[in-house]
Amino acid sequence: MSLERLAAISRFYGADPDYVIAGGGNTSFKDQSTLWVKGSGVSLGEITPDGFVAMDRAKLAAIWDAGYPEDPAEREKAVLADMLASREPGEEHKRPSVETLLHDMLPFACVVHTHPSLVNGLTCSREGEAALRALSGGDPLWIPISDPGFVLASSVREKLAGRVKVPQVIFLQNHGVFVGADTDEEIKAIYSRIITIIKEKITRVPDFSGECDEYGNSGETADLIKKAAGERVVLFRRNREIGRLVKDRAAFAPVSSAYTPDHIVYSGSDPLFLEKGADISSEWKLHSESTGRPPKIAAVEDLGVFGIGSSVDTASLTLELFTDTMKVAAYAESFGGPRFMTPEKIAFINNWEAEHYRRKLTEK
Ligand SMILES: [Zn+2]
Repeated sequence: MSLERLAAISRFYGADPDYVIAGGGNTSFKDQSTLWVKGSGVSLGEITPDGFVAMDRAKLAAIWDAGYPEDPAEREKAVLADMLASREPGEEHKRPSVETLLHDMLPFACVVHTHPSLVNGLTCSREGEAALRALSGGDPLWIPISDPGFVLASSVREKLAGRVKVPQVIFLQNHGVFVGADTDEEIKAIYSRIITIIKEKITRVPDFSGECDEYGNSGETADLIKKAAGERVVLFRRNREIGRLVKDRAAFAPVSSAYTPDHIVYSGSDPLFLEKGADISSEWKLHSESTGRPPKIAAVEDLGVFGIGSSVDTASLTLELFTDTMKVAAYAESFGGPRFMTPEKIAFINNWEAEHYRRKLTEK
């Protein structure tokens, strides 16, 4: 393995929307003393060796003995300061991935963390853990829902303490998967094995045919949505899967909240559902007031879905992540039905400084 090979395998998964969308996912390569981890805000699909941050592993290890405040906001601030202080000289202009500590503790030269829709069909389902146990036939490492960053790394660290051997695959509820190996070939082999095994169990694949991004008959509704969105860009989408989900409010339930942090960051945790004949302007206002932010997704009964963003790129990204939500919801049907993130975990992401940083970068 080398930094060049790490960049190559990162682009391989980063450019494939089945594994990673937008700024999601992160990768690393390590030797005894240095960890090269993806920089926060760098896109995995386009990363070059320069996009990785060289970290001093001795300093990262010392974080475990530091002791941090109980208060989540203070704790995150203190951990971030120590993480930034662990950068090797010359790296001060870069910011390491929020999952740096987790990458560092896995005893494999290469670690590739992604958020595949298929895997998340399992991790975001009611019976995901049991299904995984049955599928793997062994003792897979499943990490219950956790805030990303320090809390997640601590939770994995605790689970690993009771094991003789560190597993090469770690499933994270409502998040994704970590795969570690000493070569990139082995990482690819493990990923394709995971995907094949889960695919075989999927009983329903979402139907995205009949795609239509024209406003069609929706002229008046579209105008009202645009008016409510103000300066922001509004993009419309409809296909068979969307048609099925916007049939009525009950049909929309499986996509009415967030499955993973990525979904919150890019398409929001509170899509607005507008019933036929609803007063769009007043519902919009009510929804914005009650959630504290304007909606990124507005679904209209029997019509389709509007993605809203500060530019055409962010509005498209909003729709892309909503599409991923639809995939996760459909795949999760095979594992006891979908399971959203809990309201507390959603609130943490909505308020988290690190995610705010990531969102800001994508909204530029
Ligand atoms: Zn992640």
